[in-house]
Amino acid sequence: MELGGIHHVTAVTADAPGNLEFYTGVLGLRLVKKTVNQDDVSAYHLFYADAEGSPGTEMTFFDWRWAPPHEAGAGLVSATAFAVPDGESLEWWARRLDELGVSREEIQEEEGGRRAVLEFSDPEGQRLRLVHDGSGEAPEVRPWERGPVPPGRFLRGFDSVELSVWRLGPTEAVLTEAMGFRKVGERSGGDGPRSAVYEVGPGGPGARVVVVERRDLPLHRRVGAGGVHHVAFRVPDEEEHRAWRERLARAGLGVTPVIDRFYFKSVYFREPGGVLFEIATDGPGFATDEDPEHLGERLALPPFLEPHREQIERGLRPLPTAGLARSGE
Ligand code: ZN
Repeated sequence: MELGGIHHVTAVTADAPGNLEFYTGVLGLRLVKKTVNQDDVSAYHLFYADAEGSPGTEMTFFDWRWAPPHEAGAGLVSATAFAVPDGESLEWWARRLDELGVSREEIQEEEGGRRAVLEFSDPEGQRLRLVHDGSGEAPEVRPWERGPVPPGRFLRGFDSVELSVWRLGPTEAVLTEAMGFRKVGERSGGDGPRSAVYEVGPGGPGARVVVVERRDLPLHRRVGAGGVHHVAFRVPDEEEHRAWRERLARAGLGVTPVIDRFYFKSVYFREPGGVLFEIATDGPGFATDEDPEHLGERLALPPFLEPHREQIERGLRPLPTAGLARSGE
């Protein structure tokens, strides 16, 4: 029984219209689901992904319009990295960000040129990276062909997430002993912070977590706009999902009961460094309540919220149409 890598990353925005514009118009992802936060129906929950909403490609946002700007802290996901198809694509993306006025860092080579990283932020300061990693194939995804990014440059889902914690040890213990990750790289410090890289399941892009020891940061768990709320890892079906819940509970992690998120089943727990983790099933997926041709076009509500649709819609602000294509070749 192995986790299949990253399922989704859920972050916070205070500006749903601007968020939609950036993730569909600049990054070229498809809005595959427009729904509400099941625990706070005044907030949109927006899902951006490949054309089918494949697990491993989903970046999702709670729209908390009163959230203060995010401040970096320990006990949080500090960066989310997407894979690009090849090294040339990384340069294409650098030019695209420049043309669209998105400020970015220079492309950095890591691990003797085997890996190249382009770092930038979304308009609310969400730290993002595009990565070309020569050590593994970028996962297959279904490019969204009605978006502004050509299929050959479309993001190949997640490469990795970076966690910042006070102490590496306890987080490493949970990753490797309870969750089946393998340590594949380590930096002991020196001129930068101590860090380590872990892989799970198939390894490579999409199945990687980087943990950075940041004792200089305040320890906090309040996630503002531009921060990540939690990261979810994949399991194939409900049977394994139940088995994972038992395994995590036996390991003494305070794991929630199984929650039906309608598009997948979830359990949550906080790893000892403070980061909120979720384990989610690959299915049933986003086409369960919408025609795959028209994902994300109307407000989707799970059956238990459908009777309250009118009231819920009144509490939400209007959003522009997704995928307003912005130029940039
Ligand atoms: Zn989630």
